[in-house]
Amino acid sequence: MKILALNCGSSSAKYQLYDWDTKKVLCKGVVEKVVVDQGINAFIKQDSPSYVKNHPCPSHKEALQLIFDTLIDPQAGVIKNIKEINAIGHRVVHGGMKFARSVMITQEILDKIKENIPLAPLHNPANIEGIMAAKELLPKLPHIAVFDTAFHQTMPPHAFIYAVPYEWFEKYGLRRYGFHGTSHLYVSKRAAVLLGKPYKECNVITLHIGNGVSIAAVKNGVSIDTSMGFTPLEGAVMGTRSGDVDPAIVPFICKMENKSPEQVENILNKAGGLKGITTKYTDRRDIEKAALLGDDKAKLSIEIEAYRLKKYIGSYTAALGRVDAVVFTAGVGENSSIIREKACEDLEFIGIHLDKEVNRGTRGKEAMISTPDSRVKVFVIPTNEELVFIEDVVAILENRYDVHTNFTYSFQSSDYKP
Ligand code: AMP
Repeated sequence: MKILALNCGSSSAKYQLYDWDTKKVLCKGVVEKVVVDQGINAFIKQDSPSYVKNHPCPSHKEALQLIFDTLIDPQAGVIKNIKEINAIGHRVVHGGMKFARSVMITQEILDKIKENIPLAPLHNPANIEGIMAAKELLPKLPHIAVFDTAFHQTMPPHAFIYAVPYEWFEKYGLRRYGFHGTSHLYVSKRAAVLLGKPYKECNVITLHIGNGVSIAAVKNGVSIDTSMGFTPLEGAVMGTRSGDVDPAIVPFICKMENKSPEQVENILNKAGGLKGITTKYTDRRDIEKAALLGDDKAKLSIEIEAYRLKKYIGSYTAALGRVDAVVFTAGVGENSSIIREKACEDLEFIGIHLDKEVNRGTRGKEAMISTPDSRVKVFVIPTNEELVFIEDVVAILENRYDVHTNFTYSFQSSDYKP
């Protein structure tokens, strides 16, 4: 069985073709610059077999056609006929309260996904455009939606209700949703394997630290809290997003700088976070280099980012009561030993003992970075969101509805033993 994972963003379409029978990724790549005004410069870039081709893509339909053509291309392709694909898993950012798990996309489901557009105006329209284009090009295939928010639908009301007029929740669905669900699910499941315990008995704090940053508290295999909220702007400090701020800042800056609330929101999303503090950097490699060269703002941004992460580890320890493992993942979590070390500093009193040497030597690979006697194990686990897509698609095709609790071979396939 071959499954295509598709992630259509506002100007790109990422893809990965997976062979379920051999548990192997056949190829992955991205089409960039898929939009009306830049579409003329669009190109596809595929890794192994590596391939680059320029091709105009003024909409997602052309981008998907380009992907399908590449998959069967005599040189770059990995299949002979597009009919070899058995199903497509589509990333959908916002499932709102309507979706607590992945679903087969029918017209009714598509309409419900469209109803969530006000919750994610920047993301859901592109996801929907990708689904519609793929359904038009391959109408006979099963198309399955996998939501970023679904994993966090298990949060209890005391974690997801804001302390604002309750009618805002009732009228507008204004509540905390959480994102990066497929990543938190994947790494928490892998942590259970590394701990050698059943997933449903594991309490894990997962830190997804990439350009976007979110932390989740996973209790007995379900998310009970997460740092992102109504939108991905809430929570930890991110590359360009501010994370938590006093909401009174918005009208204050509107008044002082004669800006609209939308303009200030845009600044908090695109010119806040590490970029805001350092005035120029979002890439943590640049920040770490600048800090080493004595840039005070870069140094400060590292301290702020790590301090906020540490506060989440502390508060989620309180929320969970018992913690079996802390997991670092995504670009920064997998690669930056400095952020990991600082985020775990002085947490011995809650059972976290980092092995600093092992931590410093760990980059982009699965490893335990706590000392052997640390009560709370600390792991680096490279995320694999596409695998969650694939597993959910297979679970739905096989009519198994426990998609967020199934526990299959691929999650256990690493050679690594703690
Ligand atoms: P992601 O959103 O998961 O792709 O992560 C992107 C972030 O990971 C960027 O800020 C990168 O700078 C950061 N990153 C990637 N590699 C490294 C590295 N070796 N050291 C520090 N940060 C890294």
